Amino acid sequence: MEAGGAQRDQASATRWQSLATWRVLNTDFGDGQAFFAKWLAWQQDAQRPRMLHYVAFCPSPVAAAVLIDRCGNNPERQALARTLAAQWFGLVAGFHRFLLADGHVCLTLCVGQAMHLLRQQQFRADSVLLWCNPDDRPDALDPLSLWSVKALARCCRRGTSLRAIQAQPTDLPMLRSHLKQCGFAVTAETALTNGAAQYQLEAVFDPPWTLKASRQPASTDALPIQRCAVIGAGLAGASVAAALARRGWQVWVLDQAATAAAGASGLPVGLVLPHVSPDDCHLSRLSRAGVRMMLQQARWHLQTGQQWAPSGVLERQIGGTPQLPAPWSDAGKDWSRPGNNALIDPAAEALTPGIWHASGAWIKPAELVNAWLATPGVHFLGNAGVGSLQHAAGVWQLLDESGVVLCTAERVVLANACGARDLLKSLASDEPDLAVRLQHLPATQGMRGLLSWAWHTEAVDPALAFPPFPVNGAGSLISKIPLGDRSGWFTGSSYQPENQLERSDTDNHDRNFAHLQQLVPTLARALAPVFASTAINTWKGSRCVSTDRMPLVGPLDAGPQPSLWICAAMGSRGLSFSVLCAELLAARMGAEPLPVEASLAAALDALRG
Ligand SMILES: Cc1cc2nc3c(=O)[nH]c(=O)nc-3n(C[C@H](O)[C@H](O)[C@H](O)COP(=O)(O)OP(=O)(O)OC[C@H]3O[C@@H](n4cnc5c(N)ncnc54)[C@H](O)[C@@H]3O)c2cc1C
Repeated sequence: MEAGGAQRDQASATRWQSLATWRVLNTDFGDGQAFFAKWLAWQQDAQRPRMLHYVAFCPSPVAAAVLIDRCGNNPERQALARTLAAQWFGLVAGFHRFLLADGHVCLTLCVGQAMHLLRQQQFRADSVLLWCNPDDRPDALDPLSLWSVKALARCCRRGTSLRAIQAQPTDLPMLRSHLKQCGFAVTAETALTNGAAQYQLEAVFDPPWTLKASRQPASTDALPIQRCAVIGAGLAGASVAAALARRGWQVWVLDQAATAAAGASGLPVGLVLPHVSPDDCHLSRLSRAGVRMMLQQARWHLQTGQQWAPSGVLERQIGGTPQLPAPWSDAGKDWSRPGNNALIDPAAEALTPGIWHASGAWIKPAELVNAWLATPGVHFLGNAGVGSLQHAAGVWQLLDESGVVLCTAERVVLANACGARDLLKSLASDEPDLAVRLQHLPATQGMRGLLSWAWHTEAVDPALAFPPFPVNGAGSLISKIPLGDRSGWFTGSSYQPENQLERSDTDNHDRNFAHLQQLVPTLARALAPVFASTAINTWKGSRCVSTDRMPLVGPLDAGPQPSLWICAAMGSRGLSFSVLCAELLAARMGAEPLPVEASLAAALDALRG
C-alpha cells in the first residue's frame, strides 16, 4: 500500500459505518491490489456497510495468476485474490459482475475504453480513485482531459471523496484546474514517499452550484430497506427475493400454488448457455452476463452432479452438416476450467459442426428456487393467490380473490410471469396515471412447451450413443440426469402460443422427435422405439414471452421512490436471465451500480415500449 494508505482506509471506514451500501469507483483495476485492500478493510470492520460495491475499469484484464502473485507474501490478500481468480475467465469487453463474500462484496469489472465505460454508469460513487498514470494506454482514463473529469463528476454525489494518485509534478496545475472546474474542492496535496516524484491529491465533490436532479435520467433514489412482497415463486420471484434479502430487506414471496416452482420453473432440468450472434447483439451480451451470474449461484447453492453440472453445452447449427461426427472422447477436455479466457472456446469449434459453450451447464431450476427461498429474510407463503392490490398511506395490501389481506409491504414486485398482466389491468382501471404508463409496457404472451423424457434403461439405452454433454440447436437433448437412484434423458421442447387450440401431447412428442432427428440423428434412430411406446414421459409448462423476447424489469409507477415493480417475461431463458434481472432490479431499488451497461439495462426496462 502506498504512503498514507492505512490512514485513508481508516478515514473511509469511518465514513461508511452508518451506511447500508458503499460505492467505490476506481478508474484502473490494474493488478487488483487497491480492490483487495478495500475488500480487506471492509472485512475487518465490524461496523462495515452491508454491501460494498466496487466498480473498476480495465482496458485489458491481467492474468489470474498475476492477481495472486502481486499480493506478495500477504496471506490475507492472497486468500481474497484466489477467490477472485477462480472466477476470472471470459473477460471480454463489457461489464462483468462478481459476487464475493456471500454476495456482500460486488465487483463490477468494466473492460474496455474508460470514457465509454464511464458513460455507461448509472450510479453515484461515495469514493473515487483516479489514477493519473495512463502512460501510453489509449483506453485508460486521461485525467488531463477536461471531458474525462466532467464524465467522472457525473458519477459523483455531493460529498464524494476523490483521490487522484501518481500525478506527475508537471501535471498538477492542470489537474487541479480540471477538478475545480468540475466541482471538486482539493483538500490535500502530498508527495508520495515511494521515490518516484509523484503526488496525490485529495478532493471532495462539492460544487458551488445546484446539482440537477436529472443528471442520470433512468436512476431512482435509493429506497429505504423495508418490506417487499414478491408475487410468484419461480426463478424470477425467488431470485429477486434472495437479492433483496441479501441487502437487508424482509421479503414475502406469495404463490398461488402450495409449493414453490409450480409454474415454468418446475421444469425438471434446463440449459443455461449464452446466445451467440454475429453482431453480438443486446440479447447475446445480456445472456452472457446472465450466464456468468447464474453459474455463480449454481456453484454456491447446488450440489454438482446431482442438482446441476458445469457440463459445457454443444450448440449445433442445424441446416449445415446433417450428421454429428461426435468424437465424444475429445469432449472430456475441461473447457470450463477457470483461466480459459473465452466463453466460447475457439479450439472447440473444430470439434463438431457447432459451437462449444464452455460455460454452458444444466440445472434443475426448482432446486435453485428452493435454495433462494431459504435465504434469511425471505418468507414463502404458499396457497396465496393474489387477486388484487391496494395502495394506501405508502403501504400495499395484497388480497386474495375473496378480499382477504394476504400480506402488506411498502414495495411490491410482480414476478408472476403472464399473471402480472391481469393484476396490472385491474389496478390501472382505478389509476389513470398508471394506465398511461402501462401503455409503454411491452405485451406478453404465454407459450406452451412440452418436454419429452424417459429413463435410461439397460434394455433400450444405446449408452455409447448418448453424448456426454447436452446438445442444443433444434431443441435440445440433456442426458444422464440423476433422478433419485436412477437417471433420465430429456428432449424438447415444443413451442405453441397459448391463444391457439392446444396440440395433443402425441403431436408434441412427434415434433420433439423430429427435432431430435436433426440434432443427433443416429441416437434419434435408436430412440425411435421409446417415442413409439409408453416409456416416453411428458412435462408441460408455459413460458411468458414479451414482444421483443427480452424480460421486463423495473419500476411501473412514477416518482423518485417507486413502489410497484416488475420482473417477468423470462421467455425460454429464465436460467440465463433470472439472476441478472434480480441483480438489476435490486441495483435500481438501491441506487447501486448496475450489473450491465446502462444501454443494456435500458433494453430490459419494463416501460421501454
Ligand atoms: C418446456 C419448457 C422448457 C424450458 N427450457 C428452458 C431451458 O432449457 N433453459 C431456460 O433457461 N429456460 C427454459 N424454460 C423457460 C423457464 O422455465 C422460464 O423462463 C422460467 O421458469 C420463468 O420463471 P418465472 O419465475 O418468470 O415464471 P414461473 O416459473 O412460471 O413462475 C410464476 C409463478 O407465479 C405464480 N403466480 C401466477 N399468478 C399468481 C398470482 N396471481 N398470485 C400468486 N402467484 C401467482 C405461479 O404459480 C408461478 O409459480 C423452459 C420453459 C418451458 C415451458
